[in-house]
Amino acid sequence: MQCTELKALKSALKCFGEVVREMGQRNPAVFLDYDGSLTPIVDDPDSAFLHPATKAVLMKAKEAFPLGIISGRDLDDLARRVGLEGVTLAGSHGFDIMLKDGRRLGEGRWSGFGMELDLALKELAEAVGRIGGVKIERKRFAVTVHYRQARAGDKERILKEFDSVASKHESLRKSYGKTVAELLPKAEWNKGTALLEILTEEGLSEQTHFVFFAGDDVTDEDAFKVVKRRGIGIFVGEPERQTEAEYQLSSPDELRSFIERLLANECVKNRQ
Ligand SMILES: [Mg+2]
Repeated sequence: MQCTELKALKSALKCFGEVVREMGQRNPAVFLDYDGSLTPIVDDPDSAFLHPATKAVLMKAKEAFPLGIISGRDLDDLARRVGLEGVTLAGSHGFDIMLKDGRRLGEGRWSGFGMELDLALKELAEAVGRIGGVKIERKRFAVTVHYRQARAGDKERILKEFDSVASKHESLRKSYGKTVAELLPKAEWNKGTALLEILTEEGLSEQTHFVFFAGDDVTDEDAFKVVKRRGIGIFVGEPERQTEAEYQLSSPDELRSFIERLLANECVKNRQ
């Protein structure tokens, strides 16, 4: 039996003083995942909306420091849910980026995968589309099978069928999250590389900005790796596996409180 102890993470709220010391004189640049980080995980992904209190904090945050949201959601869907101008957004796990000035990155880069994704969508619809509780979504740069609402007894079959469709598409790669299985372009691209590109494009250098990234799922690990060198990673929730994040917040409510603390700290900084 394998018994690996999970590394203990420090609370980003309880250790707030330490976080601020690490940041030093640099400004914060805050990047966040959406589902499970800014909003609690819900049975139907369509009903994951920002709490008005969270939206209010994000409105203040975007005026105080660079703010971005990097999600597995389709970019248009994410933009509708966030509903704020002046925030950097990345959809499809970073394959589709809209900088805060509205500039788009990545569109032409991955458009060659469209036909393959369409074909995979058709095959997945045939293979698992009729299973109760399964939802298949074609995002601009991914095909996602949502099975949170499927019967427990069907989950093994859904994943087996997903594997079998995936094996027919050499130009796509599999990615898994909390009760989702996805096919993405097979490319060296992820939330981490997307975050690095955003930092470069928005002129947020190592000397001037300390980067925070908060996320809760497997695809967030790539971004945690990147911020190890540029700032800190914050895991939202209770990790059930090893994570590259060093800090933790127990829930989206705690993440909101953390951003409020950062804002209060920035006000103090600006008054000096
Ligand atoms: Mg998430």
